[in-house]
Amino acid sequence: MNKVIIVRYSEIHLKGKNRNFFEGLLKDNIKLAIKKYNAKVERIPGRYMVYDFEESNLQRIVSELAKVAGIFSYSVATEVNSNYDDIKDEAICQMIECSGTFKVDVNRGDKKFPLNSMELARALGGDILKKNKSLKVDVVNPETKLFVDVRENQKTYIFSKIIYGMGGMPVESSGRGLLLLSGGIDSPVAGYMMAKRGVKLYAVHFHSFPYTSELAREKVEDLARKLVPYNAGNLTVFMVNMAKYQEAIKASCNDSYTITLLRRGMFRIAEKLAGQYKLDMIITGENLGQVASQTIESMSVVENVLISDRPVLRPLVAFDKADIITLSKKIDTYDLSIKPYEDCCTVFLPDSPITKPRLDHVEEEENKFNYHDLLDEAFAQVEVVKF
Ligand code: ATP
Ligand code: MG
Repeated sequence: MNKVIIVRYSEIHLKGKNRNFFEGLLKDNIKLAIKKYNAKVERIPGRYMVYDFEESNLQRIVSELAKVAGIFSYSVATEVNSNYDDIKDEAICQMIECSGTFKVDVNRGDKKFPLNSMELARALGGDILKKNKSLKVDVVNPETKLFVDVRENQKTYIFSKIIYGMGGMPVESSGRGLLLLSGGIDSPVAGYMMAKRGVKLYAVHFHSFPYTSELAREKVEDLARKLVPYNAGNLTVFMVNMAKYQEAIKASCNDSYTITLLRRGMFRIAEKLAGQYKLDMIITGENLGQVASQTIESMSVVENVLISDRPVLRPLVAFDKADIITLSKKIDTYDLSIKPYEDCCTVFLPDSPITKPRLDHVEEEENKFNYHDLLDEAFAQVEVVKF
C-alpha cells in the first residue's frame, strides 16, 4: 500500500495543438518544485502521478505543489492491488470517520476487472455502509465522494479529498518577463500574478548604495527567495546602483521631477536588460492613482522612454490596496515588505513630486545632465544574483 499524489491541470487542456508542450512544461515544473524529495512524476492521460517518495515527506510535497502554476487540483491517493478485497479494505478505512451522505465514484480503466464500474461502486457502497452506520448513500448530491480509479497497471487508486492548486498556466508557457522588484508590498505580488499566468520571471532591483543600506538589499533578496517556488525553482535578480544618477538629478534638476526622472532611468535600464537577456515584457507593481508617480500622466511619460515594442504589464493596475495586501500575505511577502528600510525612491524624496508631468518639461529637465552616460555606467556595473 503506497501513497501517491494525483495532479490535475487547469487550463492546459484548452490549448489544442500546444497541449503536448504545455503538459511537458508542467511536468518539468512539478519535478523542479519537488526535486529534493526524489519523487517520480509520470504523465498519465489527463493528469500526472507523483509517486515513489518517502511518506514522511508527503505533507512537504503537498505544500510545494500549492505553488506550482498550472495545477488545478490534486489528491493524495492510496495505491492498492486491483482485487476486490484490497480495494474494499482501503475504501472502508478512508470512510470510517466520515458521516453524512456519500457516493462511490468508480473509474474502471482496466476493462478486465471482473466487476463493471456500477457493480463495483454498488458493492463497495454496501460494504462501507455495513462498517459505518452514520453514512447514507446519496448519488445525486453527496457530501463526500470516494473516488476509486481502477487502472490498467493492476493498481487501484483510492481517495476522497481534493486540494485546489493555484490554477493559472505553467511557468514559461507565456514567455519571460523582467519584474521591477522594489522592497515594497506591490511588486512581489505583481511578480506572483504574472508567474501564475505562465511568465518566467527575472527581476531587477534598483538601489542607491551607500544611501540605501545593506539591510534594504537583504530585504529584497529575501523577497526574491519568496518568489522562487512560484517561478519554477529559481530567480535571477539584477542589482543596479542608481546613486550617481540620482546625485546628478539632485544637483541639476527641478526637485519636483526627481521621481519622474528616476523612473525614466529605471525603465531605460530595464529595457536594456530585457534586450540583453531576451525577455519579452517588463512588469511593474504600479497601481493607478496610488501615488504621484502612478497617475496616468506619470506612467505615460515614464513608459515613453521605451524604444522597443516590448509591453509594460501592470497586473495590479486596478487593484485596491487591501486586495494587494491580502495577496501579499498569501504569498508570505507582507511581513518582509513592511520592514521600514529606505528605498532608492525615498532617499532623495522631493517635497512635492509632480503628479501630471508634461513630456516636454520632463525632457527639458532631463537634458540638464548627462543621463545617458550615467545610465550606461550603472548598466555596465549590473550585478547578477541567482536564487
Ligand atoms: P511597491 O510596493 O512595489 O514598492 P509602490 O507602491 O512603492 O510599489 P512605487 O515606488 O511608485 O510604488 O513603484 C512602482 C513600481 O515601480 C513598483 O511596484 C516596482 O515595480 C517599480 N519600482 C519602484 N522602485 C523600485 C526599485 N527600487 N527597484 C525596482 N523596481 C522598483
Ligand atoms: Mg516602492
